[in-house]
Amino acid sequence: MIQGKGIPVGAACCLGMLLCLAAAGSRARGDETAPARDAKQAVDEAYTAKIKKYTTAPYFTSPLVDYLPASKNVPTPEVVLGDVAGAPGILPYAEDVYKYMRLLEKASARVKVYSIGMTEEGREMIAVAVSSEENLKHLDENKARLAKLADPRTIKLDDGEADRIVAQATPIYYITGTIHSPETGAPTALMELAYRLAVDESPYIREIREGTITLITPVVEVDGRDRMVDLYRWHLAHPKDFYPPLIYWGKYVAHDNNRDAMGVTLKLTENVLNTYVGWKAQVLHDLHESVPYLYDNTIGDGPYNAWIDPILADEWQMIGSRNVADMTKFGMPGVFAHGDFDTWSPGYLMFIAAMHNGISRLYETFGNGGADTKERTLEPEEYARTWYRQNPPLPKTLWSQRDNNNYEETGLLTSLHYFNENKRMFLKNFYLKAKRSVLKPGEEGPAAYVLPGDDPRAGLQAELLRVLQKQAVEISRATAAFTVTLPAKKDKKPAKGEDSKEAKKKAEPTTREFPAGSYIVRMDQPYSRIADALLDHQYWSPEDPQKTPYDDTGWTFGELFGVQVTRVTDTKVLDTAMERVKEIHAPGGVRGEGTTFAINNSAEPGLGTLRYKLRDVSMEAAEEPFEAGGKKFNRGSMIVRNVGRADLDHAAAEVGLQVMALDTAPSVKTHPVRAARVALVHTWLSTQTEGWWRLALDDMKIPYEYISTQTVAKIDDLNAKYDVILFPPIGYLSSSTAIIHGMPTGWGNPLPWKNTPETPNLVGKNDSTEDMRPGLGWAGVEHLQAFVAKGGVLLTAADTSGFALSIGLADGVSVSAAQKMNIVGSVVGTRLVDAASPIAYGYDEKVPAYCDNGLIFSLSSIAGSRRRRRLGAEMNSRPTGRGTIDDPDFTVGRPGMEAAEEPSSETWENPVVTDEQKINGYRVIPPAQRARVILRYADKSDLLISGLVTGGDEIAQHPAVVDVPAGNGHVVLFSINPVYRGETRGTYSLVLNTILNFDSLNAGRKVEEK
Ligand SMILES: [Zn+2]
Repeated sequence: MIQGKGIPVGAACCLGMLLCLAAAGSRARGDETAPARDAKQAVDEAYTAKIKKYTTAPYFTSPLVDYLPASKNVPTPEVVLGDVAGAPGILPYAEDVYKYMRLLEKASARVKVYSIGMTEEGREMIAVAVSSEENLKHLDENKARLAKLADPRTIKLDDGEADRIVAQATPIYYITGTIHSPETGAPTALMELAYRLAVDESPYIREIREGTITLITPVVEVDGRDRMVDLYRWHLAHPKDFYPPLIYWGKYVAHDNNRDAMGVTLKLTENVLNTYVGWKAQVLHDLHESVPYLYDNTIGDGPYNAWIDPILADEWQMIGSRNVADMTKFGMPGVFAHGDFDTWSPGYLMFIAAMHNGISRLYETFGNGGADTKERTLEPEEYARTWYRQNPPLPKTLWSQRDNNNYEETGLLTSLHYFNENKRMFLKNFYLKAKRSVLKPGEEGPAAYVLPGDDPRAGLQAELLRVLQKQAVEISRATAAFTVTLPAKKDKKPAKGEDSKEAKKKAEPTTREFPAGSYIVRMDQPYSRIADALLDHQYWSPEDPQKTPYDDTGWTFGELFGVQVTRVTDTKVLDTAMERVKEIHAPGGVRGEGTTFAINNSAEPGLGTLRYKLRDVSMEAAEEPFEAGGKKFNRGSMIVRNVGRADLDHAAAEVGLQVMALDTAPSVKTHPVRAARVALVHTWLSTQTEGWWRLALDDMKIPYEYISTQTVAKIDDLNAKYDVILFPPIGYLSSSTAIIHGMPTGWGNPLPWKNTPETPNLVGKNDSTEDMRPGLGWAGVEHLQAFVAKGGVLLTAADTSGFALSIGLADGVSVSAAQKMNIVGSVVGTRLVDAASPIAYGYDEKVPAYCDNGLIFSLSSIAGSRRRRRLGAEMNSRPTGRGTIDDPDFTVGRPGMEAAEEPSSETWENPVVTDEQKINGYRVIPPAQRARVILRYADKSDLLISGLVTGGDEIAQHPAVVDVPAGNGHVVLFSINPVYRGETRGTYSLVLNTILNFDSLNAGRKVEEK
C-alpha cells in the first residue's frame, strides 16, 4: 500500500476532474479492436479451468484473462509454479519468477531478459522486455530514436524531425511489481502477463505486442520478497499459529522504499531509475496492494506536484479515466481513480517517470498479504459509492490471489492497449515535455542553480551533486569567475496595523559573483525538472483544501544538506565559461609542511568517517576557534599528531577532507576525540525509521553493533561494551508502553524471527530472535538507566526522546501536547544556542532541519515539574485591574507595594530558580546538571523553510536538541529527526559530534550561577 502520514479521508469533489472524465469518454473511438480472444487459437483448457476455479465470483474477471491461450512451445507459469498464476497457497520466490521469465526467453523470440543490478543483500534485479520478434530485433535502432526524443537538443529542438521520429518509434511501457513486500500478487500476475503478451494471437493483444515494448520488473524489492515468501511458507507449515509480521523488508527500510526517489539511496531505486532512463521509457507503472479492488491513484487528489509538466497532469486523466471506463464496461466492481492520494511529493518510485518527462502511474489492488483465499469485510468508507467510485467494491466477499491477478492483468492490458492506440500522441508528448524542460530558462525559469566553489562544505556539496547525477542530471563547473543578477527580494507584507513605511522601501536587484570552480546546474537540459524540484523551496498552504498530506510537504535538498544553493533566473549565467563534470569528489589530502595536522570542522560527515578510518591514531578537538598557517579554524577542528603523513594524506583524499600540516601545534584547549563504541538499538515493533540511520552509518563507514531492546534487557553492564547508545526513532507503534512491553505475550504463540528450513532468508544481515513479542522490559529500562548513570551517552530522537523522558532518564525536560500545531514532514529553521557544545561543532548560527510534528520540549530547573504559563515578566502579562498593560495594579485602602522585578528567561532556557523555590529546595536541579540546549527552533516567523507549518508558535523557540547530564553520563534528546531518508545529511554531524565527543560533552559549558 501507499501509506501516508495521516488517516486518509474521502477526497474532495472537484468539478475540473469531472469534466476531464467526460472528455476522456468522448475520446473513445468506434473502430477500436474489441478485447476478445482469437477463436482460431486453441485454449489451454486445463489452465483455463483452474483460472475459473480460483476466481471467486464471475464479475472478478474479464474477457482478457478468463482463458489462457495454448502454445506448443512456450511454457505457461505452471511449469514453475506447479499451478496457475494466482493459485491459492503458491507464492514464488524471486528466483522462481526469474526462472520462468528465462524459460520464456528461451522459448520465444518475443521475450528478452536483462539483469539490471543487484540489491543490498546481493540478489539480482531483472527487467523483461516483451514485444514482437521484429521490435526486439531492432531494439538498438529504436533506442536511438527514443534517445533523440528524450534529448531534443540532439535534433536541435526541430519539431518536424521529432514528428518523423515519433512516426517510426516504438514506445516503452515499464511495469514494476512488488516494491512493497506484503503486497504479494504482482509477480504471478506479471509472469502470466508476459506469457499472454508473447503468445496470445487475439487482435487486441497482437496490437499491443506489435506496437509497444512492454518492460517488466516483476519484483522490485527482491530481498523483501524472499523474506515474505519465507513467512508465508512458515504460515503454511504452522496453519493454526499466528505468524510473525514482516518487520524487515529490504536490508534497511520497509514501506519507505517507495519514498527514495528523491535521495536515491537504495539499490532498488537506482536500478529502476537507470532502467527507466536508460531505456528512454514513456511510462513507469508501479503495482501495489491495499485498496479494494483497483485504485488507479495517479490521478489522485490535489495538490499536484508543482514541478511536473501540465501535459503530464492531462495524461494522468486520460489514461486513468480510460482505464476505469474499460474495466467498468467489463462489469468489474471497485475500479476507480481520484481517491485521497495527493501527488505532491516526488519521493515515490513511480515519480521517477514524472520527473524524467514520462508518465507515472500507480495501482492499488486488493490483496490478502499472501496467497490464502479469505473472506474479506470492508469498512463503510471502502464500499461507499462516491462520485469517483460509482461501482464500489462489495461490503463482504471471498477474495483470492487469482482475483487480484485478474484485476492487475486486466488493468495493465487495457492500459497497454489504450496507450498503444494513442502512442503517437504519447511519444510526441514525451518529446514535448523534454523540449519544454530544455526551454525552461527562457520560459518559467530558473536558468540555473549555482553551488559556489568556495562553499566550506565541499564534501556535502559533492554528495548533493552526486544525488543529482544519479538522477541523470548534467552538472557543469565554471572555469572562470562570473557574476549574475539576482532579483530583488520581495519584502514581507507588513502585518495589519503595523507601520508599513519600512516595508515600502523598494528593494533593488543585486549582483553576486561566484568564483571559478563553482558548480552550475543548467536548466536547459532534458532532466532539469528533477533538479528544479529537489533544489527549489516548497510551500504548502495551511489553507489548502487538502488537510491530510500523504507524505512530506517539504524537502529542499540544499537546505537539508546544509550547503549553499542559489536559484539564478538571470539567463546570462548560461553563457558562463564552463565544462561538464563527470566525477564529483571533494578535494582532500594534506597540504603544507609540518608534523602537526589540523582539519577544519564544517560539520561534514567526512570527519566521522576519517576518525574511524584511522582508528588507532589519536586525534583531538579544539574547544575554541583558532588561526594557524594563515587559516581560520572553527571550534571543533581536529588536531592530529603522531600519524604518518602518507597515511593521513591517503585517508583524507579518499574522504574528501583538506588537511593542513603545521610547524607548531596551535595553542588552543583541546580534548581527545576517540572512536566511540556504538550500539544502535531497534525494537521488534518497527525497524524502518531506524533503518535510515543504519543506512547512513554504513554509508559513512561508522561501525556499530545492531542490537534489539531484548538484547539491552539481557546485558547487565552496557558500559562494558558501549560508549554511545543510539536509539533512533521507531515510527509506528512507538508508545513507551509498547517499547517496554512489546507485543502481547499473555496469549498466542511465539513469533520467531530466525532462519529455519521454512525461512532461510529471514535474517539476512539483520537481527534475529526466538520471539518478537517481548520488549525492553523493566530490566532493559534499568540497564539503560545504569548505562547513563555510569557515564554512557544515550542519544534519542522524536518518539524515543518521548520514551526517554517518560521513564525519567532526563530531569528538567518535559513535553507539551500540541494543540493546533501541524508540521508535516517539513524543513524548518533552528538556531544555535550553545556553539561551545561539542554537539554543535562546525555548525553556523542557522541550521535547517527536518521536522515532522516534533516534540515540544520545555525546560524546568525543578526536577519533576513542568514549565508553566504564569503571570509576570516572563509571559509579558499582568492581572486584570487598573491602568494600562505596563502599569501596576492597586488595592483600595492601602498603599501599593512594588513587586521585585521577576527574573526572566527565554523560551529555550532553564527558568531562573526563584527564592521561594530555593526554600528547602531538594528538587532544584544543580546548575551543572540542568539541560543544556544546543539548538532551538527558530522564531515563529522564521520557522518554515519548506513545506507545511501551522500553529508553529507552539514549537517556535522551544529546544530542538538538548544535552541533559544524568549521573556521569548524558542523554541527548532530539526533537527533530537528524537522519532521514538520505535527505538530511546537513544534520548528520549533530549525531556524529555526539559520538566523537562522547566523553567530553561538557566541554565549553557555562554553568548558570544559581
Ligand atoms: Zn504499497
